[in-house]
This record gives sequence, C-alpha cells and structure tokens, in this order.
Amino acid sequence: MTRAHDGKFAAALPVDQSTFKDGAPFVELVVTNGDDDWDKPQSGGNYKYVGVACKELELKDGKLAPAATPVLVVTDLDGTMVGDDDSTAAFKAWWDATGRKRGGKLAFSTGRTLTQFEALCEEKDGLLAKPDVLVSAVGTRIYLRDNDGDGTWREDKGWTARLDDGWDYDRVRDACYACLGQAGEERCHFRPKEEMHEHKVTMGMHADVVDAATRLLRSLLSGADVEAKVIVSGTGDWRYVDILPAGAGKLESLEYVRTSLYDFDSSQTLACGDSGNDLDMLRGPHRCVVVGNAQEDVKRAMRGETTANDGVLDAHGSLFVANGEVAFGILEALEHFGLR
Ligand SMILES: [Mg+2]
Repeated sequence: MTRAHDGKFAAALPVDQSTFKDGAPFVELVVTNGDDDWDKPQSGGNYKYVGVACKELELKDGKLAPAATPVLVVTDLDGTMVGDDDSTAAFKAWWDATGRKRGGKLAFSTGRTLTQFEALCEEKDGLLAKPDVLVSAVGTRIYLRDNDGDGTWREDKGWTARLDDGWDYDRVRDACYACLGQAGEERCHFRPKEEMHEHKVTMGMHADVVDAATRLLRSLLSGADVEAKVIVSGTGDWRYVDILPAGAGKLESLEYVRTSLYDFDSSQTLACGDSGNDLDMLRGPHRCVVVGNAQEDVKRAMRGETTANDGVLDAHGSLFVANGEVAFGILEALEHFGLR
C-alpha cells in the first residue's frame, strides 16, 4: 500500500520503565486508518523511536522523530532583539524559515509606543522579523497585526478595558507632582508626553534619588488608594520610572497573549529581556532568557532568587542566561530549551 500516514503522535515521554530501552525512552507504533489499512515501515516490523523524551513524535518519510514544537516568543526590543544588526537578521532568518512556518507566534513587548516602534521598523529597514502582536508602552497597550489585510495594527480593546481597575490617572499625577516637589526638579521630571497615555505615567529620576523617590511615590499611591506598579529601568545617571495600573505590565500582558489571544503551553513560551522593565516577565512560569549583554543588575536580580548551575539559574530550569548577545542570545535559548 502507499504510505500516506505522515503525522504527529502524542509521545507522553518519559513514562514508566517498561517504555525505556537501554536507558532511553522507547516508543513503538503502527498506523491504521481504522479499517483494514495498516501502515508499517518497508523494512517490516513496527515504527520505532528510541531517543530523548519529548511531548510529540512526528512520523515523516517513514521515520519517527521528535515533533517540531511551535513556540510563542515574547521579546523586548531595545537591547534584546535590536542592538546588533547581525543578530536581529539571524533571528529573522530563523523565524521566517522555521519558527513561523511551524505555527509559532512572535510578540514584541517594549517600552516604546506604537509610533516609536514604527520608527524603529523604518530605521531597521527589513531587518526585524514581522511580529503578530505588539505589546507597547510597558504592557499597557496590545496591538494585533492585520495579517490578512494591509498589515496595519489594531488595538486590543479588551486588554485596555482591564486597566481601569484600581487606577486613577489624576491621583497618579498628583502623587508624581508631590514626589517631584520632594526630590527637586533638578533630579526628577516628567518624561515627554508622547511617552505617556491615560494608563502610563513616566518620570525620569536621577540615580541619586531614585530609591528614596520611588519609595515615597509608592507610599503616596497606596495612601491615595491607587493600585499601581512602579517600575524602574535604565542604567547610568538617569532612570526611567514607569507608573502603571496594577493589572498592566510585561508579565500580565504576556499571559494575556499566551492564553487569551493564543493557546500556548508555558513550556512552549519564551520570554526574552535585558533590563529592569523585563524583570517581571522574566520571573514568570514560562521559559525565560536573559540575553548575554543584559544589565548586570538584571543578572544579579535573577541570581539572587535562584541557584546558579551551568547558566540555568532556577531549580525547574525555566530561566537561561545566554552567552550570546542581543538576538543571538534568543536563538541560543531556543536551542537550549529544545524549541529551535
Ligand atoms: Mg531592553
């Protein structure tokens, strides 16, 4: 008969000792169409697989092998996906040839606004892989690409509607002004209005005052009954301080993309980052990579929580610190987690 039964099979490996052969997971199967047609290898016997544990096996051209797993990549842009053009182009080449074709989805999660992101795309002139989702302004807006139409972006209003819970923009601004009065205009200011919107207030603070000023800000916000997050990022003399609704942020938006927009297991999801505003999504239950050029304080924050072991810093192996810089680090992590 003609063998027409290429396809995927749940492998459910590893299982009990009876399915191991010489210490390796072992699966043996035949294929039937439910009637009298049976498909077996031309060499006779059954299809056999002895190899590494995997969730699915794929029967292709008469051979069983671990099935290629679609992956959801949620990555920061500056310093993680961009910052080294060769690495950005290498990721795009892999994504176009393999990641997307396998059913993967790509989300950029950035501090940039949509307009700033579009400016970056223009600047990079085709180097960047095309994302399906843009999470902008530190997890306060989600945009979906119209892949069937002209590629324009549509705001996910369902996400935006969630952000009013516990949030009060006017009270947040009042707390920021009080903080500014305390720290002094020399060392504290509001960032340009293009970087802000009704669910995101951003300040610049000098490194000398940022700890005391954000402590004060948190206490003022809590005293005003505002449920907000205060996120510090950046290096050098000046830091960005983002004040966001409690339900916003890179981790919450990643979970929304993973479970509400798509349906990816956390083991098939990779979060990628390099700086302070990536920390919350790098602490999630999915796979995570800190790229090799990440800020030292980010690496330290991760190491403080976990146990160093060959670059994998946590006990269940979901966090990886890459040697590769920028997007080379993302590719290295995909390899490491068996997702490449
Ligand atoms: Mg970054």
